[in-house]
Amino acid sequence: MDCMDCRSGGNETGEECGPVTITLEPPEGSRVDRTGGDCTHPVLMRAITVRPGKANSAQLEEVAEPPLSDGALLIRARALGVCGTDHEIVSGEYGWAPAGEERLVLGHESLGTVERAPDGCGFAIGDLVVGIVRRPDPVPCPACAAGEWDMCRNGRYTERGIKQRHGYGGERYRLEPEFAVKVDPALGLLGVLLEPASILAKAWDQTERIGHRTGTWRPRILLVTGAGPIGLLAALFGVQRGLEVHVLDRVSEGSKPGLVRALGAIYHAGELQSIDGLAPDIIMECTGAPSLVSAVLGRSACCGVVCLTGVSAGGGLLELDTGGLNRTMVLQNHAVFGTVNANRAHYRTAADALAKADRGWLEGLISRRVPLERWHEALERRPDDIKVVVEFA
Ligand SMILES: [Zn+2]
Repeated sequence: MDCMDCRSGGNETGEECGPVTITLEPPEGSRVDRTGGDCTHPVLMRAITVRPGKANSAQLEEVAEPPLSDGALLIRARALGVCGTDHEIVSGEYGWAPAGEERLVLGHESLGTVERAPDGCGFAIGDLVVGIVRRPDPVPCPACAAGEWDMCRNGRYTERGIKQRHGYGGERYRLEPEFAVKVDPALGLLGVLLEPASILAKAWDQTERIGHRTGTWRPRILLVTGAGPIGLLAALFGVQRGLEVHVLDRVSEGSKPGLVRALGAIYHAGELQSIDGLAPDIIMECTGAPSLVSAVLGRSACCGVVCLTGVSAGGGLLELDTGGLNRTMVLQNHAVFGTVNANRAHYRTAADALAKADRGWLEGLISRRVPLERWHEALERRPDDIKVVVEFA
């Protein structure tokens, strides 16, 4: 374990200087030595943790410093984005703690500064970085073996802050250099948008690969359903590609319509039926709302691509004219596909897209910034939220 105040001891050897165990906040009067003085106590840091499967178990607590086995780069957290997956984990519906542990350090949308880096690893102290979320499965499957862990075939991948690996919601964490991505320093805190942007970089990569199954495909119109962070980033990528971009959301007030218009895109409030005449070459469904998912099927132009990015809860039964839908999709060469997660190439594409974007517009995506001390406010859902970010001191 890396003892923060014993750096002169050259702990990069991986030598342990204390037990690597999650340590609960000690009772009053028996506080653990935080100075790390003699290197026999674990040095503690604050982290947002949760007991997966148990609703409302999230808390800010003191945990041990991240072990060197998590990676050679020591990162000081600057910001952590909160997304729907975090809400699901906090409500006990998703998430897995690491093997042998009860609690999981939450958080997968990271931004941090490199504090320690081995020579020649490609990173320097002070670099602004984001951690890749997924790690390949141990088998590995053919996709993971090729660095395409986002397409893992056997489901045995792990994910920081989600599945069997501690996340980035602590004051410090470690990263393997090959799972760290540099962020343009000019972006500053906006670099926290890189992980969600990587999801769209993959969605666009796959959409274009599918679209180009016909050599004459020249998409012109994009429809995005949902003006949350994923939908707005989908629209940003569409605008950067020169498409005519339409965004549909339920709300007519708040910051979403203005953000869409500031991109030079067209905002529609209400139901999909309200834009019946529109024939999008690409539809990016970014809500996961079952009624909207079924409504976008068969709604693209001829040879169109429908990309599904939202994760829905199962169980909702809707009436669907399957025969009519099949007829439309077959006769018009429609493609519908789902996409999740991102690999290293997508993070790089996303970093380029963010660097090219208007900073003021990206600022508008971050609707609330909450200091770590008030972390619980970041986990509340408020009507005007787009992206809520926890800031670390
Ligand atoms: Zn795999």
